[in-house]
Amino acid sequence: MVSMRAVRKRFGPVEVLKGVSLDVPEGGVVCVVGPSGSGKSTLLRCVNRLETIDSGRIWVDGELMGYRERDGRLHRLGAAELCRQRQKIGMVFQRFHLFPHMTALENVIEGPCTVQGLGRAQAVLRAGELLERVGLADRAGHYPAQLSGGQQQRVAIARSLAMNPKVMLFDEPTSALDPELVHEVLTVMRDLAASGMTMIVVTHEMGFAREAGDHLVFVDDGVIVESGDPREVLSDPRHERTRAFLGQVL
Ligand code: ATP
Ligand code: MG
Repeated sequence: MVSMRAVRKRFGPVEVLKGVSLDVPEGGVVCVVGPSGSGKSTLLRCVNRLETIDSGRIWVDGELMGYRERDGRLHRLGAAELCRQRQKIGMVFQRFHLFPHMTALENVIEGPCTVQGLGRAQAVLRAGELLERVGLADRAGHYPAQLSGGQQQRVAIARSLAMNPKVMLFDEPTSALDPELVHEVLTVMRDLAASGMTMIVVTHEMGFAREAGDHLVFVDDGVIVESGDPREVLSDPRHERTRAFLGQVL
């Protein structure tokens, strides 16, 4: 569902991704861990083209992101085509980024109504289902400021799902939350994983990685140092750098 090949990305003089290749099969859940500044967020942002890459290739749902192949040559996609491609990818951030002047329900219907042109009645129906799925059916009329961090993050997940993405990217979705609220968000993510959603999850929640992840990737200094079955990598890391990192966080 997602394939990255030899992806490189630099900011000014600093190369942040130094040739990253990663495959996420349909329905696969890949967890990405690594030290601060190692390039995890950049990796996710490259997948949905919040960042453009310097070299390499990224395919999502069989399509090369950002380009079309014609006559054996690559042509850069226009804004509308890129927008269509990006709708296949949902993203949830550490900070929830809900629209503060809109209720939970309005947040969830905004994308389908304005970007996908869905009728309001239909969008409201679907948003109701999604809010129920994340356990917030009774909070539809609340504004973000009236919701806890965990509830806001669950609304953010529902809002992403409303666009019917093929892939969901999570960038440390629980690290801004009070510890007692982490669980409710992870539960929603576990259910989503169990429902067959393809997911790439940057997280420090090793319990989630172990139980819900099919694959664990350890990134350090812009390269994938080690990857494999989460249980194996977590219990018996092969590389010294992985061992040192896990020693700090476990
Ligand atoms: P953290 O765990 O702290 O979130 P990370 O692994 O997500 O870290 P990134 O945010 O991907 O790391 O950043 C990797 C490196 O790229 C860092 O050195 C960061 O300062 C740099 N960087 C990221 N975005 C930009 C940008 N827009 N301009 C310049 N440098 C950037
Ligand atoms: Mg980050």
